[in-house]
Amino acid sequence: MMKEIIMCYQGEMALKGLNRSSFEAVLSKSLRWRVRDLGEFQVYKAQSTMYVEPKDEQAQQNMDIAYQRVSKTFGLAALSRAAVCEKEMSAIQNTAKTYLESALRAAKTFKVEAKRADKSFPLKSPELSRHLGGYLLSCFPHLKVDVKNPDLVVMVEIRDFGAYVHGAKEPGAGGLPVGTSGRAVTMLSGGIDSPVAAWYMARRGLALHHIHFASPPYTSQAAQDKVKKLAEIVSDYTGNCMLYVVPYTTPQEYIRDNAPDVLFTVLMRRSMMRIANQIAKQIDAKALITGESLAQVASQTLQALACTDAAQDLPVLRPLIGMDKTEITAVARRIGTFETSILPYEDCCTIFTPPHPKTKPSLQEVEEAEAKMPGLAELEQQAAEQVLRIRIEMHRQAELDPLDEF
Ligand code: ATP
Ligand code: MG
Repeated sequence: MMKEIIMCYQGEMALKGLNRSSFEAVLSKSLRWRVRDLGEFQVYKAQSTMYVEPKDEQAQQNMDIAYQRVSKTFGLAALSRAAVCEKEMSAIQNTAKTYLESALRAAKTFKVEAKRADKSFPLKSPELSRHLGGYLLSCFPHLKVDVKNPDLVVMVEIRDFGAYVHGAKEPGAGGLPVGTSGRAVTMLSGGIDSPVAAWYMARRGLALHHIHFASPPYTSQAAQDKVKKLAEIVSDYTGNCMLYVVPYTTPQEYIRDNAPDVLFTVLMRRSMMRIANQIAKQIDAKALITGESLAQVASQTLQALACTDAAQDLPVLRPLIGMDKTEITAVARRIGTFETSILPYEDCCTIFTPPHPKTKPSLQEVEEAEAKMPGLAELEQQAAEQVLRIRIEMHRQAELDPLDEF
């Protein structure tokens, strides 16, 4: 069996100067963690590339899954799956021919790009390219060389531990390794937006936990299970995390019964932010993340957002603030949350909503309304204390047999 390896090329981390080594340490730990149950892998860095190398048969058989997982690891600009062979011309030729056979057959034009990091290899890069290109032309006579815009680039890299042969690099998940920016909590609803918001902020290096507000019996167990499933899908990117489910019925009913209808939504959102703030502080999270997008709904006008921001003292990160719904939806599809998000379950944010919520609430009227709800703080405190903690483990969704869901 041909030996394969995953080559990971770092992205923006390269700019981090002195911090680079600590970023790389987090990245390699994260890669190791992601493949740990797939067999024995070695993760190491050489010549500024990170390698994920299978070391036993089980690991070799799991290379498809390993590659999938690595492609969802933040901090990598690009990756490729390469065949490893002896640093010797005939081995390189054979490997390129067999390993890339289907791509070579499918292409009309190609070129070879060689890199010689190990200068003891006798051929210089242009000579190596020429040799291998000539050989592949003789094996696949339909091919033509096109150095400007080829269908296929055959890469050969002569490195310390062997020769690596691969096709084009594929884009990685980008961003920074999870954890290098600290920790925050996502306010996770069952909708399309908030899982995408979580994904964007994890990509900037935040380690995440999620908070979900449930209002049984107005919201169902199915709605909560859906949120858990969304957290599981996102965990392929974020890593293991906790989902905190806040029993929100009592504060929500209290607001419904004691506040002006037109302010209900903004008052409820402020209340949710205060509870999220309490939980965030307990777990040392430094920001709250929401899926809000400017003017998408009444509670997302500038005036309404100003009121929610004033409710508590942690920064509120809103990565979708300038995005259109179509753009958000496209990302949801790409990261795999869309199909789950559109399942038709109720969310606590959409129960009790008045027909005409105020789109331009002022902080003053909102605070006056809160002054008339003296019991609310106590109920919020209780809700925060009664939170249900659910552990979310990565890799549970993607690799389930799709039939398991029915
Ligand atoms: P989404 O698609 O994420 O549900 P949305 O456009 O439906 O967002 P809202 O329902 O107004 O907008 O919610 C705005 C944001 O508030 C959500 O993106 C999410 O971050 C948070 N949020 C809403 N409902 C809940 C909930 N039940 N639990 C936790 N956070 C919530
Ligand atoms: Mg929603």
